[in-house]
Amino acid sequence: MATAAKPDARIRLGIRVRGVVQGVGFRPYVYRIARARGLDGFVRNDAEGVWIEVEGAEEDARGLARQLTAGAPPLAAVTAVDVEDLPLAGDATFRVLESGPGVPGRATIPVDAATCGACLEELFDPSDRRYRYPFVNCTDCGPRYTIVRETPYDRTKTTMDAFALCGPCLAEYENPFDRRFHAEPNACEECGPKLEFQRPGNAALNGAAALAAAVEVLNGGGILALKGLGGLQLAADARDGRAVARLRSRKGRPSKPFALMARDLDTARAVGEVTLEAERAMTSPARPIVLLRRRTHSTLAEEIAPGLGEAGVMLPCAPLHHLLLADGPPLLVMTSGNLSEEPIARENETAVGKLSGIADAFLLHDREIHTRADDSVVRIVAGQAQPIRRSRGFVPDPIRIPVPPHSAAVLGVGAGLKNTVCLTRGDEAFLSPHIGDLENFEAIGFFEEVVEKLKRLLSVEPAAIAHDLHPDYFSTRWAIASGVPREPVQHHHAHVAACLAEHGRTEAVIGIAFDGTGCGPSGELWGGEVLTADLIGFRRAGHLRALRLPGGEAAIRQPWRTAAGALLDAGETLAALDGVEPGRSHAIQNMLEKDLRCPAATGAGRWFDVVAALCGFHGTVTYEGQAAAELEALASADRADPYSFELSGGDQDTPFEVDLRPMVREIARARQAGAPVRDVSSRFHETMASVVLESARFVRHVSGLETAVFSGGVFQNRTLTERAKELLEADGFEVLIHRLVPANDGGISLGQAAVAAFRLARREGRI
Ligand code: ZN
Ligand code: ZN
Ligand code: FE
Repeated sequence: MATAAKPDARIRLGIRVRGVVQGVGFRPYVYRIARARGLDGFVRNDAEGVWIEVEGAEEDARGLARQLTAGAPPLAAVTAVDVEDLPLAGDATFRVLESGPGVPGRATIPVDAATCGACLEELFDPSDRRYRYPFVNCTDCGPRYTIVRETPYDRTKTTMDAFALCGPCLAEYENPFDRRFHAEPNACEECGPKLEFQRPGNAALNGAAALAAAVEVLNGGGILALKGLGGLQLAADARDGRAVARLRSRKGRPSKPFALMARDLDTARAVGEVTLEAERAMTSPARPIVLLRRRTHSTLAEEIAPGLGEAGVMLPCAPLHHLLLADGPPLLVMTSGNLSEEPIARENETAVGKLSGIADAFLLHDREIHTRADDSVVRIVAGQAQPIRRSRGFVPDPIRIPVPPHSAAVLGVGAGLKNTVCLTRGDEAFLSPHIGDLENFEAIGFFEEVVEKLKRLLSVEPAAIAHDLHPDYFSTRWAIASGVPREPVQHHHAHVAACLAEHGRTEAVIGIAFDGTGCGPSGELWGGEVLTADLIGFRRAGHLRALRLPGGEAAIRQPWRTAAGALLDAGETLAALDGVEPGRSHAIQNMLEKDLRCPAATGAGRWFDVVAALCGFHGTVTYEGQAAAELEALASADRADPYSFELSGGDQDTPFEVDLRPMVREIARARQAGAPVRDVSSRFHETMASVVLESARFVRHVSGLETAVFSGGVFQNRTLTERAKELLEADGFEVLIHRLVPANDGGISLGQAAVAAFRLARREGRI
C-alpha cells in the first residue's frame, strides 16, 4: 500500500480536479509543476474537468496534488481536488494530452478576461516586442466568449483564425513553459489585429498614428467610438461638461447615467467611495462597472449621473483602453455604442453607419467580434457584489442549479425588458449576455442569434421552453411559434425561483417579489407580491394595495399621475402636487373620478413613483426606474421612523393586502407642512422595509416558513434591500438575495428554466 511506502518510494496517483479548469491554462500549469518535481504521467481535460495521473516520488506526487489550488492560474476556480492511489504504469515522461473521452461539446467556454498584470507590464515596456501593442494577451487574459464560434475552444474556431501566427508567436503558443502556451488569441504587431482610425473626410490611419489621432479627439472634447471587447463603445472626456452634454443630446439620452472608465483606482477614488468589496469587484478579471457612492466634491461633470448619488466606474479591461487612458484623459465616459435601448453595435461597417451621427471619429480594428457583450454592472449590496447587468466577463460561466437527476435541457426565454435567455445542460445553467429590450428589430435579431449560439456551444436542444405569461412579449410569442413543448411561468414566481436556484435551494420559501409590473395569472398587473413558492409552483399570500394608473403606460412615464390616484384613494386632495400645472392635474382627477383608462396595479415600483412625485418629481421619466433611483439618492443613512400602514385580510382563500393609504396621508401632510424631502425619502424606505418584515411575519405565522427570498427590480435598491434584510434577520429569518443574476428582469430566464426542469421531472415521475 502506498501509504505504508517509504517517502522516496515510487507511487502513482490519480487526481481529479473540478471547477473552472478548462481553457484557463490549467494543463500547462500542471505540466510545469510535474516537470519541476520530476514526475511522469499525463494531464488531460475530460467531461468532469481535469484528470491527472502522476508517477514518481511520493513526496513529489502528493506535493503536486496539494499545490494545485494554491498557485492556480488566475482565471481558474478549483472547487475540488480528489486524490486516489493507482498501480504503477511506468510512464517515461509527462505529457499534456488532447481532450479525453467525455460527452461531446461538454467542454466549458471561457469568459473574456481583463488584461493581466504580466501583459500590462509588457504593454508599457519599451524593450518588449509587444510594447504598446493594443491586442496583447496571454493564457490568463484576453477575449474568449466574444470571439469563439464553436467548441471546443480552439484558435481555428475563433475569429482569430483570420491571423496566421508569426514565428515567435507560434513558438510561444507551442511551448508548455511559456505563459502563451495555447493562448488562442495570441498575437503581436507582426501577425495580429491592427488598429484603424477613421474620421469622415480624412484618410484612414493605422497603428500608432491611429491611436494618437484618437487621443487627440478625446483631448479636444470630441466623441470617439471605439471597438471594445464585446462591441462598440462611445467615449468622451468625463471632466468636460460640454463633451458629456453633446454625447447626451446626440445619443438621445437626456438623463440615464453614463458609466465611467478610470485610468486607475486612485482616479476612481476621486469620483466615488471605493470600498474593499468595490475594489475587489473592480479589479476582478471580469472588470465590471461598479456603482460607487459619489463624492460630493469631485471633478466630475454633473451630467454624468444627474440626480443620483452613485456613479458607475470601471477600470480599463482591454489593452486598447489602457493605452487610451494612459495617453488621453484619465477619466472617460464609456457607454455602449448603440441607439437608446438597442443592443450594442458589433460590426465595423454597421457601427460607422449607425454611429456617424454621434461619434466624431472611430477607432476600429480588424479582429471580428463574434458575439456582442455589453459591459457588466454590479452594485455592492449588504457587503457583496450583486449583478445589475450580467454580461461581459461573466457570460458564459455556468450557474449550478439544483435540478432533479436526469433533467433534460430547457430554455428560459425571459421577459420583455432587460431580456436574457437561459439554456440548461444537466445542472448547469448558461445565461446569455444582456440582450436588451425586445422592442426593436436589433434586439429581436440578437435574441435569436444568442439562442442559436447557446444551443451550438452546448450541443443541446431544449426539451421545453419556459416563458412569461404576458401574451404580448416577443419572447412569449417566439416560444409559442417554436413548436417546442412550453412551460408558462408566472413572472414573480420566476423572480423568486431565480433567487432560489442560484442559491441551490429547492424548498418552499416566502418570496417577496417587488418590481414595476409583471403579468398575473389572469392578466392582472402585479408587482408588489408576497408569495409562498418553491421551484414548482406558488401561492399568492399577499400584495401591496393596488394603485390606479391614469392613462396606463403614460402614468409609468409621469409618476405624478399615479400619485394623484394615490392621494384621492387616501381621501386627500391634490394639494400636495402643487408643482403640477393645474389644468393637467384637473384632467387626471377627472379620469380617476370617472374611472376612465385607469388600470389597477400592485407594483411596488409604482409606490416609489408615488412618493417620488410627492417629493417633487413632477417631470417625465426618461429611463426605467428613474424616479425610484432619484428618490433613493435623497434618503439619508440615518435611521428614520416608518410611516403607518396596515395589513388586512389574509384568510385561507384571499391574500392579505398591505394598505399604504395611512402613509400617503402622512406624507401629504408632512410635505404641505414643509417637511424636507430627505426625511420623507428616508422614512419611506424604512416603511417599505417594515412592510417586507410584517409581510414575512404574517406568512411565517400561517405557514411556518422561515426563509425569505427578495427578488424583482425594486430590490436593486440598496437602501431597501440592506434594511429589510437586517430587520428580517434580527427577527430570526434567513434571507436570500441575488448574488449571481440580477434581481431585475435580467434574472427571470434562470427562474423560468429552473421551474420548467422541476415541472418536467414531476410529470415524468422523477421526483
Ligand atoms: Zn495576460
Ligand atoms: Zn506574432
Ligand atoms: Fe420583473
